[in-house]
Amino acid sequence: MEQESTVRPVTVVQHPLFGPEPVVTMCTNCGKEVTTEISRHTSACSYITCILCIFICIPCFWLPLVCPWFQDTIHACPNCKETMGIYSRFN
Ligand SMILES: [Zn+2]
Repeated sequence: MEQESTVRPVTVVQHPLFGPEPVVTMCTNCGKEVTTEISRHTSACSYITCILCIFICIPCFWLPLVCPWFQDTIHACPNCKETMGIYSRFN
């Protein structure tokens, strides 16, 4: 009877899965446990969606440029201001 191998692949998780909301994580720059500060930025995909909306619904074409749902969320450390990750719905 052979023993099952208990060797698991070593996975180093350096960054949590950043989402559209702030997350609690360890800052890789200052080494402190922080809740990320988020800011929203208009991405290239926001502009692409905007152009698509011109063909679908002209009165609403500007929505992707101002609606947070269409924007990238940038997670930064509140302590050292280092950018820790970017969340985009279009990736
Ligand atoms: Zn930090």
